[in-house]
Amino acid sequence: MYTRLVDGVNTHLPTFHRYLRLRQRMMKVPELHYYDLYAPLVASVDLTCPAEEAQKQIMTALKPLGADYAAVATRAFTERWIDLYPNDGKRAGAYSNGGAYDVHPYMLLNYNGKYADMSTLAHELGHTMHSYYSNKTQPFPTASYPIFVAEVASTFNEALLIDHMLNTIVDDSPKLSLLGSYLENIKGTVFRQTQFAEFELRIHEMAEKSQPLTGDALGKLYADITRKYYGHDKGVTVVDDYVAHEWAFVPHFYRNFYVFQYATSFTASSALAEKVLAGDPAATERYLTFLGAGGSAYPIDLLKAAGVDMTTDEPLELTMKKMNRVMDQMEKLLGGTSARPGR
Ligand SMILES: [Zn+2]
Repeated sequence: MYTRLVDGVNTHLPTFHRYLRLRQRMMKVPELHYYDLYAPLVASVDLTCPAEEAQKQIMTALKPLGADYAAVATRAFTERWIDLYPNDGKRAGAYSNGGAYDVHPYMLLNYNGKYADMSTLAHELGHTMHSYYSNKTQPFPTASYPIFVAEVASTFNEALLIDHMLNTIVDDSPKLSLLGSYLENIKGTVFRQTQFAEFELRIHEMAEKSQPLTGDALGKLYADITRKYYGHDKGVTVVDDYVAHEWAFVPHFYRNFYVFQYATSFTASSALAEKVLAGDPAATERYLTFLGAGGSAYPIDLLKAAGVDMTTDEPLELTMKKMNRVMDQMEKLLGGTSARPGR
């Protein structure tokens, strides 16, 4: 699965390059440099949303999951499972904790009324529903779900929310902003994390061949991989020499094989969301069963039963299809038939 992900993403680099060229066009820079990728893609639009409104939007977005799911999710809001607002002395961030096996999950948020807060609320609610159903269905020893599937239910909810918002928003600029943040997310989660995963894989291969792992050797390897991903030789993005040292500050590289799970969680939940949104009741049923399966099987088998086989190319293919659809929509909104050079 690991090498399939790396190979698959390499096959889809032209889709990534399409994104980079779109970014260059939107930023109006004559030459796209690696550091340009850290500037916002679209001027941020102030999509504000009070919590009551967010609850309504999220509940509508999650409608495809059926009445029982909706009833439980409503309890999270009405029965005080959520500490919603920032407060004196309260920690930052957001999480859901499903550890109280025979009570219900608890959520901590710092809701500030922005679109990102609504999306975080939908994300944490995904964790909560996963824990709720697993705790309810499984005996204690198999109730908690493994890391590999931990971010599936949460990012699944984000996907449903963004789909619902795009169907409701009529104005061009908030739409463009939402589509832009979707693309940023997929760039950071699928392409960048797989780029990291490939680097990690090659380090281990070098070690297996007894090749020395010096700073220089790692820098050269990192630069080669980064230039391949960002299309340096194809004139897509200029990856300057200093980027060779970027690996040194990524903490994950000092442990082994973690980052690929960001990419696989994303493609798994994208594929599952595509199937549920296509309106197949069997797909929804399988997904709900997965939410109740906790850690009762190996992660790959849990996902297979949910309707997505991570040992095939399908999840990545579906994710790439969606990414291209998003770029089609953005190009339409941006208007004109201005050239997408080299496509
Ligand atoms: Zn999460």
